[in-house]
Amino acid sequence: METLEKNLAVVKTKIVEAAARSGRSPEEIHLVAVTKTVPPETIQKAVDLGITLLGENRVQEAGKKVDTVKGNIEWHLIGHLQKNKVKAAVRLFSMIQSLDSLSLAEEIEKRAAEIFKVMDVLVQINIGREETKSGIDAGDAVDFIKKVSQLPHLRIKGLMAIPPFKEDPEEVRPYFRKMNEIFQDIKTMQLKNVEMIFLSMGMTNDFSVAIEEGSNMVRIGTGIFGKRK
Ligand SMILES: *Cc1c(COP(=O)(O)O)cnc(C)c1O
Repeated sequence: METLEKNLAVVKTKIVEAAARSGRSPEEIHLVAVTKTVPPETIQKAVDLGITLLGENRVQEAGKKVDTVKGNIEWHLIGHLQKNKVKAAVRLFSMIQSLDSLSLAEEIEKRAAEIFKVMDVLVQINIGREETKSGIDAGDAVDFIKKVSQLPHLRIKGLMAIPPFKEDPEEVRPYFRKMNEIFQDIKTMQLKNVEMIFLSMGMTNDFSVAIEEGSNMVRIGTGIFGKRK
């Protein structure tokens, strides 16, 4: 087996095991292959091996790949989005996982309306309250979501988080647990025009723990494609 195929098999096995530990079926866990710095030929191989969700951090880099990689695929934006890239982003991506401000939501509304598209978004929560990371404070999430839900060309589909990096994934567990609490609380509120379907959290180093704590969408780069250069 080639490395990519082996890596994918390892990731999938871990997803199956972690889903079982959280009492869920592995089909409930969505795998986003994170393709930053990965060339289109390699991405194509992953798609041919069954990957359907691809995550990119940068609009420009995605632009070069979206038309090249063929298959039954969806591209998700997972990195911070600058306002001057929104017009391109609403065309390229089927989901923006990194909605992190009201002014960005308003720009997405404007650009999505222009092309008659309803843009699926996840609200990024800065769960570790890190200065270096974008995202909404957990305490402001409900208020923010209520405001965004008024915008007709955005559809909130859940939450995303990038908790602090820790060598030992057990140290990330409390952040994942807190995220799941927020996710479940908002789901219970049944806000109008808000669907709490996806809880996107967990990367190569910590996705098993994330799934144990309720994640249903993991974003994995290194674990699939190897170390980035
Ligand atoms: C790079 C990246 C990932 C994947 O990270 P790995 O550790 O390589 O799995 C996931 N989410 C975001 C937002 C990223 O920028």
